[in-house]
Amino acid sequence: MKAHEHIKEDLNNYLKRMQLSTVRRRYEELSQKAQAESMTYEQYLWELINEEYQERRCRRIERLLKESRLPMDKTMSTFDMKRMPRKIAQQAKVLQEGEFLSRNENILAFGNPGSGKTHLLCAIGHELVYRECRVYYTMCANLVQELLLAKRELRLPAMLKKLSKYKPIIIDDIGYIPQGQEEMEVLFTLLADRYERGSVMITSNLPFSKWEKIFKDPMTTAAAIDRLIHHSVILEINLVSYRMEQAKGLKNNG
Ligand code: ADP
Ligand code: MG
Repeated sequence: MKAHEHIKEDLNNYLKRMQLSTVRRRYEELSQKAQAESMTYEQYLWELINEEYQERRCRRIERLLKESRLPMDKTMSTFDMKRMPRKIAQQAKVLQEGEFLSRNENILAFGNPGSGKTHLLCAIGHELVYRECRVYYTMCANLVQELLLAKRELRLPAMLKKLSKYKPIIIDDIGYIPQGQEEMEVLFTLLADRYERGSVMITSNLPFSKWEKIFKDPMTTAAAIDRLIHHSVILEINLVSYRMEQAKGLKNNG
C-alpha cells in the first residue's frame, strides 16, 4: 500500500490537474464525517462527488445565465400564469421542459402590447437555462444592427456561427421598428440559417398578415413565414395590457 503522506500529496496533485477543486477541498473533512457516521465507501464517494457535481452545475448555470442576456427579473416566479388562457399555461408548462429544442421547433408569440409575450418567453428561457441550455435573448432591433455591422465588416458568417451555438435564440419584438432593405436581408439570412438547425423564439405585435412591413416584398415574407412556421408552436396572447390593468387597479384602490 502507498504511504499515507504520499497518498495525500499525489491526491492533491491529481485533483488539481483534473480540476476537481471541490473534491480536493472537501475530501478530508468528508472522510472524517464518513468515519464518524460509519458510511459505506459508496456513500462517502457519493457525498464527495455530489458536492463537486452540484458546485459545477451552479457555476455553469450562472455562466449560462450571464451569457444569455436574459432580463433577470422576467422569470416564472414573477409571472402570474393565472392571467394566461388555460391553453397557453399548458403549452408553457410543456415548453419549459425544452423538448422542442431537440426537434428544432420554433415558438412564435403573438398578441397586443402588454399581454406578457416578452415576459413569458423570457421566463421559459430562464427555465431552459436551468436545464443547462445555451439561451440567447436579444431585442430584434439590436440583433439586426449587430448583424448589419458584422456584414459590413465581412464577419457575418462568423457571427452566424457564433449564434448557431445558442439553442434557442429569443428574438424579441420582431417588426416593431420599421426596417430598410438591408436590415430585412440580414434578418432573413439569420432565419434561413437557423431553419431546421436551431430553435428561435419570437415575439411580435404584428400578425403574419402584416409581416410584409418587415420583409418588404411578398416573396421574402412568404419564405420567412414558411420557414418559421414549418415546425412551430404558436402562442396567441391577446390580453388587456398588464401595465394598463395594474395602473387601473392602483387607481381603483387608491
Ligand atoms: P408584451 O411583450 O406582450 O408587450 P410584456 O411581457 O413586456 O408584454 O409585459 C408588459 C409588462 O407587464 C412587463 O413589465 C411584464 O413583466 C408585466 N407582465 C405581463 N404579463 C404578466 C404576468 N402574467 N405576470 C406578471 N407580470 C406580467
Ligand atoms: Mg414585448
